[in-house]
Amino acid sequence: MSIEQVQVVIAGAGPVGSVAAAYLAQHGIDVLLCEQGNDAAQDLRASTFHAPTLEMLDEIGVTDKLLAMGLKAPVYHWRDRKSDEVFSFDLTELSDIARYPYRLQCEQYHLAKMLADRLDGLDNAQVLFEHRVVHVAQDDAGVSVALEHMTGIKQIRCQYLIGADGANSIVRKWMGIDFDGFTYPEKFLCLSTEFPVESKVPDLAMVNYISDSDEWLVLLRVPNLWRVLVPALGEETDAYLLSDEKKTKVFDGILGDGAEIETRHRTIYRVHQRVAKTFRDGRIALIGDAAHLNNPLGGFGMNSGIHDAFNLCEKLVSVLKGETSDDVLDLYDRQRRTVTHAFTQQQTLENMEMMRAGQSEAHRQRVESMRALAENPEKRRQFLMRQAMFSSLADAAAID
Ligand SMILES: Cc1cc2nc3c(=O)[nH]c(=O)nc-3n(C[C@H](O)[C@H](O)[C@H](O)COP(=O)(O)OP(=O)(O)OC[C@H]3O[C@@H](n4cnc5c(N)ncnc54)[C@H](O)[C@@H]3O)c2cc1C
Repeated sequence: MSIEQVQVVIAGAGPVGSVAAAYLAQHGIDVLLCEQGNDAAQDLRASTFHAPTLEMLDEIGVTDKLLAMGLKAPVYHWRDRKSDEVFSFDLTELSDIARYPYRLQCEQYHLAKMLADRLDGLDNAQVLFEHRVVHVAQDDAGVSVALEHMTGIKQIRCQYLIGADGANSIVRKWMGIDFDGFTYPEKFLCLSTEFPVESKVPDLAMVNYISDSDEWLVLLRVPNLWRVLVPALGEETDAYLLSDEKKTKVFDGILGDGAEIETRHRTIYRVHQRVAKTFRDGRIALIGDAAHLNNPLGGFGMNSGIHDAFNLCEKLVSVLKGETSDDVLDLYDRQRRTVTHAFTQQQTLENMEMMRAGQSEAHRQRVESMRALAENPEKRRQFLMRQAMFSSLADAAAID
């Protein structure tokens, strides 16, 4: 059996793996992107691109295309459902440092799809759909990767392998890397509708985090739809969560009358907080959901994965061009894993507590400090820098 050789194999053509492949190909590296699905998945999960992510994506020439497809959301709201108090945050306050001072609302599959299409036309890139990584082994000279496809197994030999194969990463499993953390007991239900929710709910931003001790929700706009995310109670079965009865109940709570609402999607998600013990082992590195998982409150999962991809691939290009030793890949692990714990994990846990509200003294203090920072320009700026993910990138860059 012939063994194909390539400089870098990337497992998984989600948004993060596709970005890594595009970056490497643009810098002259031979890259093979393999995906178990038959196309870039029509995945509705991520819908928010943060400002520094858009700056990065501009380096690989896709930001203008995303801007043409998406909606700019400069303002987002934290709202208390019981008191109706609204904290409004305006990202244009960062216009002096942000080239794109807003959240761009656009579904993640647009990015993965456009990059896969583009890679297909390049001489130094190959995209293989319906090719599933089934085995990985490394030695001092390289990595052997086995890909299962319709008619057999293809063997690939590469210098480096990137695992961008999502939450259940087989690359991470073959490396034997622990993925510590927890899974939230509740499931999360995402519904979408073409109904103009803004016609019934006054003063809505395009992104609204609505806290409530009974049932919190996220209400956000993508180009043709409103998306609603609610937690599911333990005793609610999947069949009930996907039923008209549940749909009507959710929209009753938002609009007063949910019976007439038609949905385009009804999806149940399991949500986790987990971080891999290391993001690098020899010639193999993990990026995106393969390396870390967090709840969707704040829109950090895909964005932080894209930040991993840029951080790793910048270093990998210099290694493959012989400009530096691959010890620099340990720096990737230190930088990205540190900010994953210090920012993404911590902030999403805090966001969940804020959404769950409740009557505790701790929650009263959380609301008080959000009120204080919303009213104080300096504190508000720091908050916006954190939420837009500029601070975590600066923190990572400061690690040596
Ligand atoms: C409800 C919800 C809303 C969210 N909203 C946001 C948001 O607004 N902003 C944000 O930043 N994040 C958000 N996230 C998180 C975001 O969706 C993920 O962080 C993001 O999809 C991670 O991208 P990825 O490319 O690492 O992994 P994935 O998107 O999971 O892609 C992995 C790819 O690898 C492929 N694959 C898996 N195993 C193999 C194998 N063995 N061989 C080959 N291919 C394989 C899969 O088919 C898949 O295509 C949200 C998540 C949820 C649940």
